This record gives sequence, C-alpha cells and structure tokens, in this order.
Amino acid sequence: MKMTTGITDLELTVLQGGTPNVYHAALLADDDGLTLIDAGLPGMLGQIEEKIRAAGYNPDDVRRIVFTHQDVDHIGALAQLLERLPGVEILVHADERPYLEGEQALIKMPAERLQSMPDGLRRLAEQMLASLVPGRVTRVLQHGEELPLQGGLRILHTPGHTPGHISLYVPGEKLLLAGDALRVENGALAGPSEPYTPDMNQALRSLEQLAELEIDRVLCYHGGLYEGDVRGALQKITGVKS
Ligand SMILES: [Zn+2]
Repeated sequence: MKMTTGITDLELTVLQGGTPNVYHAALLADDDGLTLIDAGLPGMLGQIEEKIRAAGYNPDDVRRIVFTHQDVDHIGALAQLLERLPGVEILVHADERPYLEGEQALIKMPAERLQSMPDGLRRLAEQMLASLVPGRVTRVLQHGEELPLQGGLRILHTPGHTPGHISLYVPGEKLLLAGDALRVENGALAGPSEPYTPDMNQALRSLEQLAELEIDRVLCYHGGLYEGDVRGALQKITGVKS
C-alpha cells in the first residue's frame, strides 16, 4: 500500500501456525534508487521482490537497506538480498553494528532457538547468521542525523527493544516509521511487545522524545498503520504528558 508518493508499506505475510501474520517493511523511492526499511524473515526474498514489483518498482533498483534493529524477523532476508544485490548498502545504528557484524550474538537468537527450527528454516537462518561478518555494515547511523531521502529522513535512537533500535521520522509527511518501538494492537497504538523487549523501561523512555514531534501517522512493523491521536496515544503508553 502506498502511504505517500514515495513511501510504500511493503506488507510481507508469513503463516504462523496456519494464521497469516503481516510484517510492515517499508520501501522508499528516491531519485537515486530504492531504500528498503527492514527485510522480513529468512526465505522472504521472493515475496519482497514481488511486493516491490507490485508497487511499480524494480528490485534491481534497491540501493540500500536500513535495519531498524537486529531481530530475525527484520534482518531475515539479508543473506539472500546480498546475493541478489551484491553492492547494496547496509545502514544500522552504531549500537546495533556489533550484532550485524557477528561480533556479538543476536540478543534474541540463542542456539536453542536455532536448533528447534524446522530444517528448511534453520538452514536459511544459518545462512543469514553466516552473512553477519566484519564490514557488513556500510554506514553507521547516529541519533538525530538526517538522511537525504524523502526530503529528509531523521534517525531517532529508540533503544530498549534492542540497544541500537531506531525509528525513522519523515517530517515532510508527519510520518513515523516506528519499527518495533510501537505496535498497533486491536486498532490502538501500543508500546513494544514485552516478552521481546529486554529493557522495557528504556523502551518507554525512548518514546518520550516522540511527544515533541508532529506525527499524524505511524507505521508499525507489527500491526501496520496507525492514524489518529498519536500524541494522546503516546501519553497513555509512556504516562508522560507533553
Ligand atoms: Zn523486534
């Protein structure tokens, strides 16, 4: 679904226990090419390409991938994407770089989890982990910097869910690409998923900075688009009035 002229909600569907679950990656189209924000699970390359084409673009034009954080449902297709697009740039927050380059183990991917996966998925996950090598990240991002995409794409460090989690703010569109810092649950904006958020206090503090921004719409990786009283919803989640 197109959210603005240049930003598409790239809906990636996975069947979990027979129930479809949708991840909301995003695709930004700029003059110098396409930017993918997050990349689904291992094995999802085909679907990513299909969705890019359905949005009217060519997968060959993907120039860079920004990962909001290290979780396997966000970086899953990395190995496949690198094979498909050898020159693609990889951008993550500085605090997430050691995980993307294999210096530190992914926080939520213990060896037991890998062992418990079905063979096919485990092979893909192993291939993904093998792609996390020194030099993998081509650009390290810092809080507050602005990428020259979509008229200015602001990097917001929103740690808690992971140490280097980022959300992306497009001031020109009053749009927030929240990653996993926020979710939409039963139509309401909610904080990050507690079982998957090692530092919930920090995650909630990370949201306080959003009160200062003009936001009309939030795209959450889990739950999709929220349109409504974002400021009021954030107050409820953080308990802080702006
Ligand atoms: Zn996550």
